[in-house]
Amino acid sequence: MRYYNFTKRDITDCHDELILHNFGSLSIGSLVNALLILVFSFYPREYDDNRLFYYIICAVEAALFLSSTYSLKKKELSDSVFKASYIIFICSLLFFCIFVYAIDRSPFAVRFLLVFLNFQIIFVVNIIAIIIGNILVIITFFIVNEYAALVTGINIPDNGIFDVYNIALSAAICITLNWYSSHVIVRGIITSNSLKEERNRFLIDSIHDQLTGLNNRRSFEQSVDFYTSVCRHVHQTVCAVMMDVDFFKNYNDFYGHQKGDIVLQAIGKALKELAEEDRVYVARVGGEEFIVLWTENRMLEAERIVLKLRQKIIDLQIPHERSPVAPYVTASFGLYFMRGGSMDSSDELYNYADIALYKAKEAGRNRIMLLDSADRNCRPVQLRSPNELKR
Ligand code: GH3
Ligand code: MG
Ligand code: MG
Repeated sequence: MRYYNFTKRDITDCHDELILHNFGSLSIGSLVNALLILVFSFYPREYDDNRLFYYIICAVEAALFLSSTYSLKKKELSDSVFKASYIIFICSLLFFCIFVYAIDRSPFAVRFLLVFLNFQIIFVVNIIAIIIGNILVIITFFIVNEYAALVTGINIPDNGIFDVYNIALSAAICITLNWYSSHVIVRGIITSNSLKEERNRFLIDSIHDQLTGLNNRRSFEQSVDFYTSVCRHVHQTVCAVMMDVDFFKNYNDFYGHQKGDIVLQAIGKALKELAEEDRVYVARVGGEEFIVLWTENRMLEAERIVLKLRQKIIDLQIPHERSPVAPYVTASFGLYFMRGGSMDSSDELYNYADIALYKAKEAGRNRIMLLDSADRNCRPVQLRSPNELKR
């Protein structure tokens, strides 16, 4: 678990839209609220009872909370960090409302308590609860307002300074709490996003080879079943090429293991190019062994791709003084042409490609052997330029 210590800038950078929806709309709502109070406080005395403006304010607030909460809810927030922060927030809110009530003794405290409790409740349930919650808050407010006036005998005083005090307090409370709740929510979202990212990164790492960045053996084992079932059920021919670098042990012994690693990386890059150019699947399945998979019914086209791969390795022109076959690094290839409808298992696909590779090694390396599932016979692929076989 990663913990974040956000500055306001981080939050704005990460979730501009969210801030705009939540902090923006609620803060503007608070200012609208404050303005309404201001307007009503200068109204003739018959409105001193102030019930009407409470109702209007409450409705405006409920609408604003509803819209901003709905926009937040759509972003699917749910995270334990968020829930923990939510509990802390509720406790501080309760404390705050008691404090305001103690110094003010006006129904404002009750109103804030209700609206913000409602605001919190709606985050942990769903949109229906948001609507019900908002209706409830309006009804409860009506009742509590009546009750508070009855019990305390205090309405909002007609004293202008006291009104200004209430306006300032109302705006300050709303803006502070809204900013705080935005902060908490954004932190929750970012934490859950980063956890998702970490999980994705872990999943990606688990199927990739660290040295070359190619798919690894685990990925191959997951993918090969797909190819064999395409072959079996969709009657597509699957081509599987096993490739092994020639005399690589000699290379390591002569140039060192580190240089060997650089060679493997260069070969990995060539394979990636092939994967992009010819839309084939490539993986590193062993130390200096690689596999290539694709579907292709035309044998000549299959040969073209292996010839192209061989040419790519030769074109790297990596000097190899200890290779008896060439002054540069070469590889041997076994192509298994697994015809559509074949019932071979994934293991058999691998084994036949390996047999073809073994034959290529036996025949002198730096060459391609083709094993056809039709007759299980191995024959060498004529070494010519891949361009000669161009589609
Ligand atoms: P062949 O032509 O018959 O394939 O001969 P070879 O020497 O390539 O085959 P062998 O299986 O005898 O040796 C494979 C070598 O590959 C042995 C090992 O040192 C090397 N190797 C395997 N994995 C790595 C690796 O990750 N990095 C480096 N540098 N070398 C590796
Ligand atoms: Mg090997
Ligand atoms: Mg080898």
